[in-house]
Amino acid sequence: MLETTHALDGDPLGSESLPVEVTFLGGLEEVGMNATLMSCGEQRVLVDCGAGFPDPAYAPGAQQTHPSFESLRKAGETLTGIVLTHGHEDHIGAVAQLLEWLEGPIYGTAFTISLVASKLSERGFRPEFHIVQPGKRYMIGAFCFEWVLVPHSIPGACALVIDTPQGRIVHAGDLKMDLSAPNHKGGGVFSRFGALGEEGVDLLLLESTNVYVRGFAPSEAGLVESFEKLFAQAKGRIFLVTFASHVERMSLAIQAARKTGRKVVMAGSGIERSLQIARELGYLHLLEREIVSIEEAQKLAPERVLVLATGSQGEPMATMARLARDEMPPLRILSGDTIFWSARWVPGNENVISYIQDQLLSRGAEILDPPLYNVHVSGHGFRGDLQLAIKLLRPRALVPIHGQQRFLLEHRKLAIETGMAQEDVLVCRNGERLRLFERRVERAGFAEWEMLYRGHPAAPPLGVDILRQRRHLARDGLLVVSSVLNQKGALVGDMLIECLGVSASPSQLYEEWPALLVDAFEQIPLTLRSNLDAVSQSLKRALRQHLRNQEISPQVLVILQQLRNTD
Ligand SMILES: [Zn+2]
Ligand SMILES: [Zn+2]
Repeated sequence: MLETTHALDGDPLGSESLPVEVTFLGGLEEVGMNATLMSCGEQRVLVDCGAGFPDPAYAPGAQQTHPSFESLRKAGETLTGIVLTHGHEDHIGAVAQLLEWLEGPIYGTAFTISLVASKLSERGFRPEFHIVQPGKRYMIGAFCFEWVLVPHSIPGACALVIDTPQGRIVHAGDLKMDLSAPNHKGGGVFSRFGALGEEGVDLLLLESTNVYVRGFAPSEAGLVESFEKLFAQAKGRIFLVTFASHVERMSLAIQAARKTGRKVVMAGSGIERSLQIARELGYLHLLEREIVSIEEAQKLAPERVLVLATGSQGEPMATMARLARDEMPPLRILSGDTIFWSARWVPGNENVISYIQDQLLSRGAEILDPPLYNVHVSGHGFRGDLQLAIKLLRPRALVPIHGQQRFLLEHRKLAIETGMAQEDVLVCRNGERLRLFERRVERAGFAEWEMLYRGHPAAPPLGVDILRQRRHLARDGLLVVSSVLNQKGALVGDMLIECLGVSASPSQLYEEWPALLVDAFEQIPLTLRSNLDAVSQSLKRALRQHLRNQEISPQVLVILQQLRNTD
């Protein structure tokens, strides 16, 4: 299913005189939805295609957001390439949705492509895949791409060097400048960035996630000792809660388990799939005999068990939420269990995580949370990392990406502190377009841009009107009025009222409100009653007015039917 593409030699730049355009389709007003279009004439390459995470108060029931790809399709039904930096949801989570609009071959490192391929095959998409080797160069349309491995929190995470007909762009992906990261010994990223800085970088896109945190992001390697110590101290089972894709973190826990005589339980299909891919690609050393099923683990002494689990952000169907609700009896949380909460609490999820932790604590578990316990480090660089990346790459122009506007604005201040000129740091918005011509970057207006919401990744998008209705329903509930008219326009039977999410007494439902509706109906002239829409509107208006006087304002739906002539 997976193809390996060959690196190409030769000069990528040719003698094109067309400008290169860089259009930001997402990720500049949120953490999520990372997607940047690079185009040159007819050649269009999309770098990353991530999902966003909607605010449940604004979009009840929505699981993800992504930019609309309608404007891309208007310009042609295929993309020259879809190029991925790494396999996190905020970078790959909307690839399937993109493919609903238009097609294109997908490029990325082996771990990234394996994750994407497995997600896409579930949806029935089988695009052309190309697995790339970091350090080699690949021609994709008018662009030449090189993937540079960077320390982050998922295998195969890369920055991209993009040689275009008009100059060199570096998209740094998500990264921290971590010299001792377990899979980056030797600091390849430092030497490659340094060399790129020597050669000249015309535009750098650099993430902003931790721009408010001083210093350097601690190394993943710093957790080794801490895990070993905490594992040795734990008396019962250990649960390690992290993202399913965080192979390095799970690998550290597996090493500590090995040293302290624990077997490994993979709780959940996401973790099983991710570790399976990691083992196949050589990112993880885990022997069959070190793995036990949930059922086998029940027969082991508690101090012989490590459970790898998801749900660090309170996701309702993930293992930790299910354990909090006591929905997984074979893994039921017991007194003596220690839970390593090996992830940060992503802003916006605090209430739900706090609730789940309370439930787990009430079942007798102990929870080790960062930063009080050394069980997590960020995969995103702090201020020091960002400054170091800028110093090494020495870009002529910088666009901060990957964050809300305040993060990008703070990043601009930091870049100026680092020595960049104010006019060379461009804070952009979603939909904004830059033009690169003869190695100079300038603003070039806005593309047609819209954000879409999905109730489920495979469900049709939810429009603005639907979200407004959902908020109204969630806040105020629904009243449904139904009745039947005969041919002459008289009521047959009663006005029936059903309510959902509205506090109403039987006398209101069966007497007061129906009577009011019958009154309103009788005031409508007979000649107008054949227009059922107009009758519905009048009834709705009358009931709403009455309810407003009682300080309630539900959605009102009126369903009228007229009997056909049956004689
Ligand atoms: Zn990431
Ligand atoms: Zn990201």
